Amino acid sequence: MDQPQRERDAESYFSTTRPLFTDGGLADRPHSPAPAAPSVATITEPAREIPVHEETDVLVVGGGPAGTAAAVAAARLGQRVTLVERYGDLGGLSAGGLVIWIDRMTDWSGTPVIAGIGAELLDRLPEGAVAGPGPELWGSTDPGHVAHWRERLSAFRDTVCRSPMIDPEWLKIVSHELLVGEGVRVLLHSWAVAAITEDGAVRGMIFESKQGRRAILAKVVVDATGDLDVVAQAGGAFVTDARKDGTGGNVQHCINTAFTWTGVDFQRWLEFKRDNPSAHQDLMNRGRELLGYLDTPHVGWRDDVVVFMGPRMSGYSGLDVEDLSTVELESRRRMVAHLDFFRREAPGFENAWIMLAAPQIGVRMTRRLAGLHPMTAEEWRAGVRHPDEIGVSPSPSQKFPTISVPYRALVPERLDGVVASDATTQAFMREIPQCWMTGHAAGTAAGLAARSGVAPRALDVGEIRQELREQGAFLHEREPAQVGS
Ligand SMILES: Cc1cc2nc3c(=O)[nH]c(=O)nc-3n(C[C@H](O)[C@H](O)[C@H](O)COP(=O)(O)OP(=O)(O)OC[C@H]3O[C@@H](n4cnc5c(N)ncnc54)[C@H](O)[C@@H]3O)c2cc1C
Repeated sequence: MDQPQRERDAESYFSTTRPLFTDGGLADRPHSPAPAAPSVATITEPAREIPVHEETDVLVVGGGPAGTAAAVAAARLGQRVTLVERYGDLGGLSAGGLVIWIDRMTDWSGTPVIAGIGAELLDRLPEGAVAGPGPELWGSTDPGHVAHWRERLSAFRDTVCRSPMIDPEWLKIVSHELLVGEGVRVLLHSWAVAAITEDGAVRGMIFESKQGRRAILAKVVVDATGDLDVVAQAGGAFVTDARKDGTGGNVQHCINTAFTWTGVDFQRWLEFKRDNPSAHQDLMNRGRELLGYLDTPHVGWRDDVVVFMGPRMSGYSGLDVEDLSTVELESRRRMVAHLDFFRREAPGFENAWIMLAAPQIGVRMTRRLAGLHPMTAEEWRAGVRHPDEIGVSPSPSQKFPTISVPYRALVPERLDGVVASDATTQAFMREIPQCWMTGHAAGTAAGLAARSGVAPRALDVGEIRQELREQGAFLHEREPAQVGS
């Protein structure tokens, strides 16, 4: 009988004779037409009246982990809150970006130091939408538990942690439910494009949608765009050390589109790795040689789903539309090359198929807030507890104590009426749990500022801390002094 057409198509798609797989060294070959020559021409846009879509107390721009937590926190203070998101769903990179591996929420003793709204979101995920060790195992150093959970990314440095894998679609659903349940107005498909400022303070944002350009006025704005769009558009100070020439040399500078596959038997892959470590090493080396770069598959929230968080590309800017386009196309090309290789060579991947290439490109760093008191490695390594601590992060290793996050890291050097969730970052401060934590704090501050009419920088930090504790956040036991002390 004739092979069905679909099967034949699939075979030719995955065939090793396709030029895609025989050209070797895919790594440094962007698969995109050369960018148009940069134009120096400009046009003048005529001034125009812009409808005010609404006035609110707190405007949150961005519906990722930070924005979701910020909106809930401000709404719980009885404020009118509107959240504006450019895409059609919530969760940001943790959903649309397929960053489904939530980093550590517990410290090395197993205490859940990232608590509050982030933990609430995880707890709302239904059974089957989250995979990770239960609370009774957090902090365990039992070798059996560590060995089991290490393979599933929930044990590091010989300790079991709360760092689950989640189903991104369910994260979107529970985020939406939580926001709507708290009375937050959610405006999707709305892209914030310009800041409305008055006397050095942000008073709202102009956003674009299918309805054209509209304004939202607010008492306080939370910048949870991940790119610091609000602060940058308002002329606030930011830092950017993601070098376009790719010389930064660390992961913060990399961009790529993550992807998930299903039809995988991850148990078989794990057995192969365990039983034949040298065959596994050979396989990975072969892949690297053939493709130029090989990324590691991680198990998803189920054993038949894997996620690839790479392959990473450096030398591109997350703020440059030509670069973003190139990375999107090249990431998909590499995804197909990976699929071909894994299907042919990797035990457990014979029937793998593409589930999803992330709708949101994975940009790790563009702009960071120049806050009143940027976090520094010297301080957290020395275990400094800030008097204005608004959150606690797990430390990168047992060598360091848990890390105190100061409110001043969220307040711009200059520019009022705005707080940002993008705490000045070390590698760990940009992870999803930390963004939930800083978003929670920024939303609490915004809610208190809107309610009292006091500028965010002049708030009583004791009040922020008290409210955070009431909303379930974890803080070290220590009374704060005034901001700036
Ligand atoms: C490839 C990759 C792998 C990663 N791996 C991990 C990991 O394993 N574990 C982990 O915990 N973290 C990981 N991270 C980090 C983590 O995903 C992000 O740092 C985190 O999601 C940032 O949260 P956020 O809310 O600040 O920003 P985002 O998640 O980026 O959310 C920002 C939201 O704002 C919206 N937005 C942006 N600009 C505008 C605008 N102008 N108008 C309206 N809306 C706007 C976006 O659409 C988005 O929904 C990874 C990141 C990447 C890129």
